Amino acid sequence: MPMTTVDEHLERILALVAPTRARRAPLEEAHGCVLAADVRATIALPSFDNSAMDGYAVRAADVADATEDTPVVLPVDADIPAGPGTPAALPAGAAARIMTGAPLPRGADSVVQLEWTDGGRESVAVRRPPRRGQHIRRAGEDVTPGSLVLAAGSVIGSAQIGLLAAVNVARPPVHPRPRVAVLSTGTELVEVGSPLHDGQIVDSNSHGIAAAARESGAHVRRLTGVPDEPDAFAKAFYGILSQVDAVVTTGGVSVGAYDVVKEVLTGAGSIRFDQVAMKPGRPQGFGLVEGVPVFTLPGNPVSALVSFDLFVRPALQRMRGLPAAGLPLVEVTLAEPLRSSAGTRGYVRVALTGLGPGGLPGPDTLARPAGGQGSHQLTSLAAAGALAIVPEEVVEVPAGSRVAALLLGDGPASILSGVGWADAHGDGAGDGTRPTAGLATR
Ligand code: AMP
Ligand code: MG
Repeated sequence: MPMTTVDEHLERILALVAPTRARRAPLEEAHGCVLAADVRATIALPSFDNSAMDGYAVRAADVADATEDTPVVLPVDADIPAGPGTPAALPAGAAARIMTGAPLPRGADSVVQLEWTDGGRESVAVRRPPRRGQHIRRAGEDVTPGSLVLAAGSVIGSAQIGLLAAVNVARPPVHPRPRVAVLSTGTELVEVGSPLHDGQIVDSNSHGIAAAARESGAHVRRLTGVPDEPDAFAKAFYGILSQVDAVVTTGGVSVGAYDVVKEVLTGAGSIRFDQVAMKPGRPQGFGLVEGVPVFTLPGNPVSALVSFDLFVRPALQRMRGLPAAGLPLVEVTLAEPLRSSAGTRGYVRVALTGLGPGGLPGPDTLARPAGGQGSHQLTSLAAAGALAIVPEEVVEVPAGSRVAALLLGDGPASILSGVGWADAHGDGAGDGTRPTAGLATR
């Protein structure tokens, strides 16, 4: 059977996925999203000349002769806290007590910080002369009206949220987080925490893949253990399709009997089932069904998670409006040889030692297999710091070689998926819908 390469499969996926449709979202929801259009200022920042210090607004010329031994004493004409409107103009030869952030009175050209005075209320003794303009924050020195505040494509983190709020943008235009349905298939599956009977296993895929999707910045709807019956799968799949931006299924795509995903989705939309020349994770499917990207990942837990990292993660990055970069590519030195089958690209789970500053691989970083490499062996994936890549034409890489590896672990996006599905979409639906007889929601 002719095989597709990993790169061809990814290319086909990326050609068919697009950023989510832009819409305006409140700041809390916009956090972690990508800005869909340039944001320009409608106000200046600061909006008015104001004091950078607690102290006294003065005319610099009035206190130019002040020294420690011969302070200049001025009457205190006013008290200017932050907040209540425009203060009266400052008369010549007077000072106004002013707080940080309070508007500068007309006529004043400098602020003397409190520490250079006696702090007087009726009159103030100034012991050091300020420079003209000292401790004044001028209107527009951060942002001028009409200027570009944030460019389209910016990731909205905490600083960007602060800036958007400061320029009074309550609902920036963003690419909303993709809503992703994760649907595991297998009659043998039971939900975690339930008693196991003969032949049953815990559905680990829907949890692992849901977590990976959340790490990729998605809102996730999890459907656990759809039985290997075409009607049940079709019902679960088409029931969720119109509510999401992408569907990820696991299992049911091999060449065996009861491969229900393949059976039901063959011929649906542009779905294609391919054998991808990779290990783990050979059987893959992808296509648009009713315009929604559908990823059908293999059932073995490691195959499913590695496939997610290679294909779904970059697609979700694109859907979020980001470059479809995938996992970070690094270089590591092998402490032990690696083997991989001819003709397939191997992704070997490796543990990393000798990480550089910040926990990132450096010149002294060594990689060795993290344990058994069977596609059902999750412990080695959990112990791995990276997936070392063994190219198609290579069957053995000797110890001491430098090899390319995909760095595993939470992306920065993981901190950014705090707002839940229901919060963000208002449909009240939670995580972990179990489609038992007829997609009942627990
Ligand atoms: P399949 O591709 O459906 O034939 O599944 C391949 C292997 O992965 C079988 O051993 C399944 O029992 C196992 N498997 C499938 N789905 C899951 C799942 N959701 N959680 C854990 N193991 C699974
Ligand atoms: Mg199965």
